[in-house]
Amino acid sequence: MSSARICPEWPQVNKSEYKGIWVYIEHQNGVIKDGSLQLIGKARELAAKINVDVSAVMIGHNLGDLVKEPIYYGADRVIYIDDEALSVYIPHLYASVIVNLVNKYKPEVVLFAATKRGRELAPYVANTLRAGITADCTDLDIDVKTRDLDQVRPTYGGNILAHIRTPNRRPQLASVRPNVFPTPPRDTNRKGEVIRESLDKLPKPNGSLLGVKPVIKGDSDLPPVEKADLVVVAGRGVAGPEGVKLLIELAKALGGTIGGSKKVTDAGWLPADRQIGQTGKTIRPTVYIGVGVSGAIQHIFGMKESKIIVAINSDPNAPIFEYADYGIVGDYRQVVQALLETLSSMRKTN
Ligand SMILES: Cc1cc2nc3c(=O)[nH]c(=O)nc-3n(C[C@H](O)[C@H](O)[C@H](O)COP(=O)(O)OP(=O)(O)OC[C@H]3O[C@@H](n4cnc5c(N)ncnc54)[C@H](O)[C@@H]3O)c2cc1C
Repeated sequence: MSSARICPEWPQVNKSEYKGIWVYIEHQNGVIKDGSLQLIGKARELAAKINVDVSAVMIGHNLGDLVKEPIYYGADRVIYIDDEALSVYIPHLYASVIVNLVNKYKPEVVLFAATKRGRELAPYVANTLRAGITADCTDLDIDVKTRDLDQVRPTYGGNILAHIRTPNRRPQLASVRPNVFPTPPRDTNRKGEVIRESLDKLPKPNGSLLGVKPVIKGDSDLPPVEKADLVVVAGRGVAGPEGVKLLIELAKALGGTIGGSKKVTDAGWLPADRQIGQTGKTIRPTVYIGVGVSGAIQHIFGMKESKIIVAINSDPNAPIFEYADYGIVGDYRQVVQALLETLSSMRKTN
């Protein structure tokens, strides 16, 4: 079957232009995820079969010597971008940068670790490239004649293993569950090429988010969301980092901690480990205070076991009020400011 018959609106790709195997290197707080290192090992095996190189791709800020690590684990080359605009993980910004690199270098395979971030990022990249993706693979092989990646993953509840191929598109993208492949040994004597790319040399990422500023750091002295008895949760209604700052002040005044909806963590106003909900943390504090949170079911999933639920929202019809024990309809700035003043005067009288 030709690709023209499958997706007539997608431009044809010239497969012979694409060469080499890429591994996207996920890292956080100066540490590379094991899943990414394990993929370098597998990529080496695949690359040897079709006689190509393994490149590791890293993006972020203040990467320092971390960029050499993929070489120690088996990569032939590291292509990286170090830029302040990438200091906060924002899925569509990161995806856009990876897409631009792929379009420049044209690798035939791009692998992602199927971590929380990898599962989010890889489909963004695949969709933009019109390439398709096989998510959550448990094994990989490559056909030496066609150079098609054999992407293996369980299906039908794990009863059968599907072997998925992408014969008509390039690059071939797959995410792979961490720990299905061993981590290769680290050898600091290995040598490789390190290429620094810059955002200036690439087309501007979609959405022009280069002006995004780093996450508010005032949360770092507060306990993690799953450990606190009172959690103030910021929703998109707080409209930006300044709103989150005000809620951090409230959380501190109440002796609790700060969390956020997915929209808030995706926007980089709080770190991802403070996200509450289906794809974030599940919390059961004594008091949950949702501020500018609409109450989407995926959010409710992560907080509905809280003993007392308080919601502050300017929309009286916001779904969160259906779950709230106490609801305050109003602009959050006025409500939070009033709460802070009350707490401060209570402290003075005590
Ligand atoms: C597969 C999947 C997984 C997901 N996982 C999660 C998850 O883990 N956690 C999660 O949170 N979401 C998750 N989501 C996203 C979820 O569907 C919602 O999009 C998200 O929860 C909405 O976030 P929000 O309430 O902050 O923003 P919005 O829905 O945009 O709501 C903003 C609210 O702020 C109110 N508001 C606006 N201005 C003010 C003001 N001045 N004062 C007071 N209130 C104001 C508005 O009335 C509105 O109710 C997931 C979605 C999918 C598809």
